[in-house]
Amino acid sequence: MQNRELVEAQAVSERERRKYLTLFERLPLPAVVLDRSGVVREANEAAAAVFGCSATEQLCNRSVYRMLDAEARSRVHAYLAAPPSVTEEGSATEIPLHVGRPHDGAYLSYSAHLARLPACSEEDGRVHMLLVDRHSDDRQEREGRCRQMLSDSTSTLIHAFDLTGNLIFANRAASAYLEGAETLSVEQRRAFDGLLGSRALDIEVLIAGKPISNQGSYAAAPEDRRSFLIQKFPLRDDSGKIFAVGGTSTDVSTLMAGQSDLYAAFSLAKDLANRDSLTGLANRPGFVERLRGALAGLDPAGKGLALGFLDIDAFKDINDGMGHEIGDAILSAFARRLEDTMGERACLGRFGGDEFLFFIADSTPEEAERLLQRTLGDIRSPYEVAGTKVLLTCSAGLSHAPRDATRAEDLLRAADMALYSAKSNGRDRISHFRESLRFTSERRLQVFSALRKALCEDSFRLVFQPKFDISDRRRIVGAEALLRWRDPQLGEVSPAEFVPLAEANGLHNALDLRVLKLFARQQGEWVRRGLRLPVSVNLSARSLQSTELVPSVLALLDYHDIPPELLLLEITETGLMTCASEAPRNLARLADAGVRISIDDFGTGYSSLAYLQKLRPSELKIDRSFIAQLDARDEASERIVRAMLALAESLQLSTVAEGIETEDQLAWLVENGCEFGQGFLVSPGLEIPAFEALLSE
Ligand code: C2E
Ligand code: CA
Ligand code: CA
Repeated sequence: MQNRELVEAQAVSERERRKYLTLFERLPLPAVVLDRSGVVREANEAAAAVFGCSATEQLCNRSVYRMLDAEARSRVHAYLAAPPSVTEEGSATEIPLHVGRPHDGAYLSYSAHLARLPACSEEDGRVHMLLVDRHSDDRQEREGRCRQMLSDSTSTLIHAFDLTGNLIFANRAASAYLEGAETLSVEQRRAFDGLLGSRALDIEVLIAGKPISNQGSYAAAPEDRRSFLIQKFPLRDDSGKIFAVGGTSTDVSTLMAGQSDLYAAFSLAKDLANRDSLTGLANRPGFVERLRGALAGLDPAGKGLALGFLDIDAFKDINDGMGHEIGDAILSAFARRLEDTMGERACLGRFGGDEFLFFIADSTPEEAERLLQRTLGDIRSPYEVAGTKVLLTCSAGLSHAPRDATRAEDLLRAADMALYSAKSNGRDRISHFRESLRFTSERRLQVFSALRKALCEDSFRLVFQPKFDISDRRRIVGAEALLRWRDPQLGEVSPAEFVPLAEANGLHNALDLRVLKLFARQQGEWVRRGLRLPVSVNLSARSLQSTELVPSVLALLDYHDIPPELLLLEITETGLMTCASEAPRNLARLADAGVRISIDDFGTGYSSLAYLQKLRPSELKIDRSFIAQLDARDEASERIVRAMLALAESLQLSTVAEGIETEDQLAWLVENGCEFGQGFLVSPGLEIPAFEALLSE
């Protein structure tokens, strides 16, 4: 019986033990059992995890002291060492402790709840330690304290008013202004409107439901008025409903005092941004801004505003030929001259590249033109750059407000159209905007896109204008091939119109090559038929830059069996003047091969004798404009043409007078020893059958 009772008692004890163990192991709280010396005797999985062990066995038999911070260590030690009477069975002690988190070493806070287990022989004095997680409480507390400290230590005033306008929060800085007043009635509040923002501002925030900023000014002492930046924002509860208007007020008095410096720095930066770094003139945005300002302030009863667009003629060639550094130096020198001549009256700007701008407020178009004429005159005197003299001319377009346009953009476009017209009328001149140019600008686009198409198709042909002996007009000594283009939509388009367009858009190479092919086919045929007639072909000076030109010319002559001396290449004097270093070299190669060079439109440029000699031309073509003036028996023009003839003679060049239209002109040229002539008086450019008919007359 006794035995049975014993067995039963053992069974009960075993059940109790299992129950305890299950409870212990499943406990969601970390729990360990420590012996009197602090060694872990039992541990559950949660505890193993806290101490960075993968299994409870790893934790067992280790000293708990190694795993605790110093303060917890001494307190746990004190508890374990104390006689059981002091730490009564079942009465728990709470010790705060920090455990380093295994994966990142961060300390986590726990409360260790220690309780003595019931005494039983060899397990005497064992202590049960439960860890209760405290870090979330801790964080909340820390956050709260941070919030409090930040809000108290900042010099920014932080405040909140409820929906009825009562002050519900003020940080220390705000309270200092309120002299400690915890509350502020709606009436009292008004005195602080410049500091905390008015009730009206709060209402605005409530209506808008979003932050609003304002400025205020408040005098805490009679002599100490300060400026505040007041920012207000809605404060919402969890459901998103606004329950108050929060605000911050920042003292910006010192900032405002420094604002004049700041403003100066700002305007300097702005000024730099609006200035062209090369020339120091206003850049495009800077100029346009000033133009807008001037247009806005235009006196309706005044003379208006004149706007000018300037473009250096053939500057691209200078830049390509002499290098960008010299190009830049020339642009700066050009800008200085503009400043010297018109700086006082005009606002100047550089639009980019070689394009410059100016406007003159309170000026008629005529006054602007007079000033511009003087400027262009100045620009024509040579520039000394890097030991060489460079001659510049420029073209200009003028527009006028309010005559042509009133908006800056429109006025600029008008001046640009006028500039284009100046360029296409031969450059080195001024054009005023006129309504008809609007069509020109549209036309330009049409012609350009048609031209691009035409270069892929076969819509070009050549006509031939006879070159004759001045003293015997019936003797045809050669011909000039002139390009003709008939577009299906636009009809016959003049080369005077599309050649400059091709040059301006980089199509000149393709175009010149097309002409050379047409020439070679025709000349080849004539040569085969036994006709030996030198034919001139016009070439863009820019094409001389291309490395393809010389080989193409020579290959064409070779292919069609054309003796090189039956080709004359006409290049305009102005084109040559501004032409790059490659051009003389290419011309020399052509001359070496026997191709002859003719200088077209002679007299319109400013070529020096030395330069002309270097190019080894064989012919000078006196520009039509001089021939036209011979009619008037104008002394000056006569002298110029005589000088040109003398120059040609001294260089042993033959002379061709272009554009002879009258008997008088012809007579004068005969008298003064010109060799050859071209002109409507004898014949315009002729289609091939007509030209051949003329030859066989
Ligand atoms: P340009 O080289 O000075 O050619 C002479 C221009 O004057 C031709 O105009 C010709 O028809 C015209 N002309 C001839 N005799 C007289 C006259 O007695 N009185 C008047 N008022 N004009 C006369 P076109 O054919 O319209 O050519 C104009 C310009 O187009 C040419 O001037 C030349 O610079 C360029 N050009 C013509 N064909 C070509 C070409 O194949 N290639 C290149 N690159 N340019 C060309
Ligand atoms: Ca010509
Ligand atoms: Ca000519």
